Amino acid sequence: MTDSKNSEQPVALVTGSARGIGFEIARVLGEDGYAVMLSDINEEGLAGAAKELEAANIACAYIKADVSVAEDADKLVAGTIEKFGRIDVLVNNAGITRDGLLMRMDENAWDLVLKVNLKGTFLMSKAVVRPMLKQKAGSVINIASVIGLMGNAGQANYAASKAGIIGFTKSFAKEFGRKGIRANAIAPGFIQSEMTAVLPEKVTEQMLAQIPMNTFGSPRDVANAVSFLASNKASYITGQVLTVDGGMVMA
Ligand code: NAD
Repeated sequence: MTDSKNSEQPVALVTGSARGIGFEIARVLGEDGYAVMLSDINEEGLAGAAKELEAANIACAYIKADVSVAEDADKLVAGTIEKFGRIDVLVNNAGITRDGLLMRMDENAWDLVLKVNLKGTFLMSKAVVRPMLKQKAGSVINIASVIGLMGNAGQANYAASKAGIIGFTKSFAKEFGRKGIRANAIAPGFIQSEMTAVLPEKVTEQMLAQIPMNTFGSPRDVANAVSFLASNKASYITGQVLTVDGGMVMA
């Protein structure tokens, strides 16, 4: 693991970063000059992700943690401070789906998606507040979804969790704006990743028909938006939802 106790170097913590969009966010923030703390429940994936970032000369480390468990969230934040000395950016990216039509959706599928996506975002955000208050600065970026804005048949649990994240983000922004801590959400549209690779062709075709730009997004498209919202270029932006969706949803 590359060590970085350079107190000048900004530090970013990205959840669900063993693969997919989270890993790409970690890579882009690393390219931006952040030391990156990777975290996920997939330890093997984390080790591979850290290796890849190290090969690109990005200062990083990883901690296995389940964002939906309060103890894990607290340990992850404490471990990040211990390793890198500070925490400037938190990206709440870890998320899951358990799709199914409402009449067939069992309670477990509802509870699990809400627990990881929404409660996980709450627990992680709460855990970083103290160090960010001490620093009098910080940026929290929550990965929501266009599904949280427009709903989707077969995804009532996921849509509710992502809409919840948006309400949570706005409340957080109102509570901590005067303390110099910003919070924004990103609502990706259809992004090519392992999460979407499992969808039937018919569903992906229907999705594509709804995208004005007529193409799916890449993890890097989302990561670039995170890079902007984390940066000083976005220093007067808080409580917002930035859609990264090829024009799929227009407010
Ligand atoms: P992915 O399944 O490829 O990656 C998600 C990562 O989160 C995995 O590495 C997984 O191990 C990790 N994870 C799952 N549960 C966790 C937990 N309890 N604690 C910590 N880590 C956990 O998915 P992805 O496509 O990269 O999606 C990343 C985020 O982007 C998710 O929040 C997802 O809802 C959101 N999103 C994705 C799309 C898309 O089209 N792929 C669109 C909109 C929003």
